[in-house]
Amino acid sequence: AFNADVVPQAPEDPLFGLMAAYRKDTDSKKVDLGIGAYRDDNAKPWVLPVVKAADDLLRKDPDLNHEYLPIGGLADFNFASQKLILGKDSAAIQDKRVISLQTISGTGAVHLGSAFISRFYNPQSAEAKAIYCSSPTWANHNQIITNVHLPVKTYPYFSKETKGLDFDGMIKAIESAAEGSVILLHACAHNPTGVDPTRDQWTKIAHVMRQKRHFPFFDCAYQGFASGSLSTDAWAINYFVDQGFELMIAQSYAKNFGLYGERAGCFHFVAAPSANAQDEVARVGSQLAILQRSEISNPPAYGARIASMVLNDDKLFSQWEEDLRTMSGRIISMRKALKSKLDELETPGKWDHITEQIGMFSFTGLNEQQVGKLREKFHVYMTKNGRISMAGLNTKNVEYFAKALDSVVR
Ligand code: PMP
Repeated sequence: AFNADVVPQAPEDPLFGLMAAYRKDTDSKKVDLGIGAYRDDNAKPWVLPVVKAADDLLRKDPDLNHEYLPIGGLADFNFASQKLILGKDSAAIQDKRVISLQTISGTGAVHLGSAFISRFYNPQSAEAKAIYCSSPTWANHNQIITNVHLPVKTYPYFSKETKGLDFDGMIKAIESAAEGSVILLHACAHNPTGVDPTRDQWTKIAHVMRQKRHFPFFDCAYQGFASGSLSTDAWAINYFVDQGFELMIAQSYAKNFGLYGERAGCFHFVAAPSANAQDEVARVGSQLAILQRSEISNPPAYGARIASMVLNDDKLFSQWEEDLRTMSGRIISMRKALKSKLDELETPGKWDHITEQIGMFSFTGLNEQQVGKLREKFHVYMTKNGRISMAGLNTKNVEYFAKALDSVVR
């Protein structure tokens, strides 16, 4: 039997535990700022109109069946995903040095990349066989990486003083990492902090990584969702590709299509420009296919079909861009509303970071005790690290939340 020494009780996932507690709370004023999923102004999940349109078309297709997809997933989806993340005229795509596999959303893509590193990455020193994550990072990164028996190392990222990027700390850590280390970077809308490097800072990061021959692994879970522009949010990735890096990308369609539960994502391996690049991606692709086969056999079809339909149709694509602007626009307007309410209340402290940070989340700087008080006294649910999901705010609760926040920091 598996006694407790062999299989100890694992702690509950903090985020999903928070969701359960929120659901149980019967107070009508309760506010959910925990989970990273978009909500409309009525605090309800939002099916993107373009997803509804594609879904309707898909259901009308008399040839639709439930056969297996290939191991690498839906080819039209993969190709459209390459173009979306690397740009239509990408030299890497033209040179055929990109290999892409459909994955179980972004999580599956981060996993596949990490599993590939674990199995095949062979840096000069054993020390470099580790994945460097920002401190802090999306909590699941740690679990995904240790699950494939790779050490997680960290680079400083968030400055508690400025509530912005600790750029010097970040660069120094990347500079002193063993040559050829894998550096995991959030492509945009960093989770949990909402803090991204500027373009100038990205160029400096790329410069140091080039010198140290580090391997970039981009996690891109919010393309188009952060700024409202798909190309702006992919800028850092494309800068690195243009610099000739060999790199990997984990791409999620959970947030930008609102396809959370459908698990549509894509993993890309981009080889550096060279005469052997096509041969290299063919070999890499063959091994990725074996990893994929052993774990999921074939990726799920439905979400990928919806995304593919939108990505491959000009009219639907423009409609999607409109929907992205709706989501990012509402979030940006909530940042402004929260900031101006705090200004009005003359809440102690500096709150500029609320409007300076980007994407779904804001790192408020509230401490664990204040977070606890918000929950007990005001029925406001957020993670212990002081992160709030901006999407949980709306025109009806932003004032209530601002007053609650004001009260716990006084
Ligand atoms: N990476 C980051 C940084 C994320 O925030 C998320 C979503 N929470 C993901 C990856 C992947 O999410 P999913 O598997 O739902 O696409």
